[in-house]
Amino acid sequence: MENNYYCKEKLEQKGLRITPQRLSIFCFLSNTKSHPSAENVYLEVRKQFPNISFDTVNRTMTCLFKNGLLKMVESGHGPRRYDANLKPHYHFRCLECKKIIDFESPEYDKIKIPEDVQKKFKIYNQKIILEGICPDCLKKQAIKKSDFSEKDKLNKK
Ligand SMILES: [Zn+2]
Ligand SMILES: [Zn+2]
Repeated sequence: MENNYYCKEKLEQKGLRITPQRLSIFCFLSNTKSHPSAENVYLEVRKQFPNISFDTVNRTMTCLFKNGLLKMVESGHGPRRYDANLKPHYHFRCLECKKIIDFESPEYDKIKIPEDVQKKFKIYNQKIILEGICPDCLKKQAIKKSDFSEKDKLNKK
């Protein structure tokens, strides 16, 4: 958990003016692992600041992004999603529930961009995204399947 103090310090380091709204937005982002969209953040922050506009939230997030306090996540076809976890990590995207889950991997940390590719392009960053079904959805699928076979058994009797 990152506390208010940590968030304040981060904003100060970047020379950003600290308003209660901005602090609240950044704190929420720093404490969630859900990789929320601007819409998600707006709905959350509105609980504390009922008069805040979506535009303010969106602008604040763009500002945090420009100052390197937020990253954007490849979210497929859905709305743009954000990540305030600035430690090196990778993403697993569930194709079922669209959850984006962080994981760390010393193996992936070692992956280098091939030299010939580096010569060809100006590369800003390298992302690794795995896609599949998350443990929660796997569990749900297993339950559904066993439900089916229970019914099958009953039908046969
Ligand atoms: Zn899932
Ligand atoms: Zn992440």
